[in-house]
Amino acid sequence: MNFNDVEVVLAIMKKAGYGDIVQLPEESDVILINTCAIRDNAENKIWQRLNYFKHIKSNWRKNGTKSSRPPPKVAVLGCMAERLKEKLIEADKMVDVVCGPDAYRDLPRLLSSVEQGQQAINTLLSLEETYADVSPVRIAKDSVTAFVSIMRGCNNMCAFCIVPFTRGRERSRPLESIVREVGELWEQGVKEVTLLGQNVNSYCDLSGFSAIYRTNESGLRFASLLKCLAETYPEMRFRFTSPHPKDFPDDLLLVMREHHNVCNSIHLPVQSGSSRVLERMRRGYTREAYLELVERIREIIPGVALSSDFIAGFCGETEEDHLQTLSIVETVGYEMAYMFAYSMREKTPAHRHDVDDVPEEVKQRRLSELIATFKRSSAARYHSQLGKTQLVLIEAPNKRNPNEWGGRCDSGQKVFFSRAPVPDHQSGDLVDTKPGDYVAVKILDTTFASLRGEPLRRTSLQAFYSEPR
Ligand code: SF4
Repeated sequence: MNFNDVEVVLAIMKKAGYGDIVQLPEESDVILINTCAIRDNAENKIWQRLNYFKHIKSNWRKNGTKSSRPPPKVAVLGCMAERLKEKLIEADKMVDVVCGPDAYRDLPRLLSSVEQGQQAINTLLSLEETYADVSPVRIAKDSVTAFVSIMRGCNNMCAFCIVPFTRGRERSRPLESIVREVGELWEQGVKEVTLLGQNVNSYCDLSGFSAIYRTNESGLRFASLLKCLAETYPEMRFRFTSPHPKDFPDDLLLVMREHHNVCNSIHLPVQSGSSRVLERMRRGYTREAYLELVERIREIIPGVALSSDFIAGFCGETEEDHLQTLSIVETVGYEMAYMFAYSMREKTPAHRHDVDDVPEEVKQRRLSELIATFKRSSAARYHSQLGKTQLVLIEAPNKRNPNEWGGRCDSGQKVFFSRAPVPDHQSGDLVDTKPGDYVAVKILDTTFASLRGEPLRRTSLQAFYSEPR
């Protein structure tokens, strides 16, 4: 989400007359730092960067000779800007501009007001802003994959999460603005789009209704958007993140099953395997309801790859709760997982109502056990790919071995294979392959987090799935 926000900001800056991105902060007029406030660790890194930029600015003043230009202005954007607001401006003159995630359009004005000696801060949250009309400036111009933000904000109130306070209420982009942006990406050679949103499957296009009259009972839902995109761009792959388990109706699962270009992988964040902890986290489901959903998903989309998020050591988590989390990892069998020790954030419901009572060393021990359990369980899932033929979209050369391509298969796993020429599926001629090509790859080997295989032929998405396998 943050990466896509940077691309939106670049488009706004470009329109306001700012030039290209430069490589070194010393060469810039403006330093933009997009921030995340989810964990302490992320914020600490930002403070370190701000200290470094402060050092550049103070040296600039001392040397005087370094450049005839004034030192760069430093603007903090995103969630940390929203969370800390004035604190950032007051912090020892490290920051010139503070701009929240719904105020990016105001950034050029904020920068010019700094020149006039005014304080530049805008962290107003909006009920409407989706930047639907902004075509993001792509940072990785040659990449065959891209992100498209389809909704912003979150109406849930998970006890541990700062997002509703930094990103505001849910609002979705009009469907046609998303179809237009995906079309522009297709023209630029992009073959895989990941649809983004804090609560992506809560997507609900209620264009024409002002925010106060919107309810999620009507409007175009996520399944309709996905179906429309999959049918408009049949050779483009689609993924989405990050969803909430509450928004997986059957019609969405059926769209996934019926469209081969909607990838067979679902991120299904569970956070904990204990119903007691889930209730305290205000996740809105029990362990049993989550497992029933997993069963339903696998019934409708056999072979679907699942990934999840886990928090170790949330307030009040006992050893028994922790064991339940380990057991859900084994029961479900995830392909991928994001696992963290709990870090309490100010302003969240947990900060107001709960006690961060699991000692740090216990959190870390539980996190290690979680990681070890996940590794054991996912190894079996990677192993089950041996001998299968997967459709891989080539992304780039393998950084460790330039004689190999790296890409992802339908389920999102990384696959590496030789760059040797392969037959084309239509002509049968040997052809060189390149990023953006789909290649049928027979999986021959696995490591902890990747697959390795033999390229069989260059093909197309539709041809691959129409062949008998
Ligand atoms: S649904 Fe996700 S973004 Fe929303 S409050 Fe919960 S964890 Fe945060």
